Amino acid sequence: MRGTSRVATRALLAVAVTGALLVSGLSGPASSAEEQVAGDHGHGAAQKHRSHGPDGIALDRQDLVAAPFAADAEVPWASPEYDGAAYTSDRPDVAGRAGLAMVHAIYVYAREMSSRFPTFGAMFQADMRDASRLLQTQYGRGIRFDERPDTRGGGRPTVVDVTVVHSRYRSAQLGAANQFDVVAGELAADGRFSNPDKKYVVFLDAPSQYCGQGELWQDTRRNAGNASEQRTIAIVYRPYDPNTATTGGFCRGRTLRHELGHNLGALQNVAPHAFDGAHCADSAEDTMCYTFANTPDTGAAVFDYGNDDYWDPIAAGGTTKLPWWTVNLSRFVCPPGGDCSRPNIPEF
Ligand SMILES: [Zn+2]
Repeated sequence: MRGTSRVATRALLAVAVTGALLVSGLSGPASSAEEQVAGDHGHGAAQKHRSHGPDGIALDRQDLVAAPFAADAEVPWASPEYDGAAYTSDRPDVAGRAGLAMVHAIYVYAREMSSRFPTFGAMFQADMRDASRLLQTQYGRGIRFDERPDTRGGGRPTVVDVTVVHSRYRSAQLGAANQFDVVAGELAADGRFSNPDKKYVVFLDAPSQYCGQGELWQDTRRNAGNASEQRTIAIVYRPYDPNTATTGGFCRGRTLRHELGHNLGALQNVAPHAFDGAHCADSAEDTMCYTFANTPDTGAAVFDYGNDDYWDPIAAGGTTKLPWWTVNLSRFVCPPGGDCSRPNIPEF
């Protein structure tokens, strides 16, 4: 029953998004909806809904406006910045970080295709660094990615550990309307990606109509048992021409940070600017907001503009806390001071 309802929801979303893009491509976000999962899974009275619909190309404004918002800026990347190693297993965690919650990256390519990881591995590195950098710059606390030593040695900094997966599915299957479930199912059945202390973010090298998609739990409780603290999946999609040299066809800019934001619990539907229960609408520069034609450009990329929806004021130099789950509480976020080899100190 649950499976049927999910398929139906996704199919309807695909139609809605396609229609919106054909009609204007300028106004309004891609359609997005919460998929509600009944039952409370033993967490008392807290209500939880898992997953939200795919984030459409409207999330990535690069093709839609002459001057993209700062939040959509695509960071430069170059192959020599990455060691080029391609591993098919999760490498040993960097010394001192073992056992800490972290985000592990996966590159998935289709059964009949050749891996493009040698070409775009450096771009994925750049985008993950960029996803963490805004939190580091704004709050002094990044996202803890799963990292490994650079195989070139020489005192180089660690690199993000990306596992390369050759899917059992062909491009047509990975690019179908149910692509999130196809990929999440394949990874769930793969013993390499079952660590309960890791969140998994996928770069899916297959066609898509969307920019990305991530699981979002609705659970407002401010404690370590919050549902957002568990293993989740996020996917960055490839809706553009794969021959585009600077992107490989993937959505970049705010996309990865946005999908990880969902995984970390942004936004709870009680947040004041949660117009659709999962996204805000108070700043076009806000990672988790959709950019309507009339959404204010507040000037610079931010992670929770105004600290009123998903990042506590007390974690931004203020003194107050929001009365629902916020991302600064996450064990996947680095502690104040930014030392990611130490656990977070959540402001419950
Ligand atoms: Zn979203």
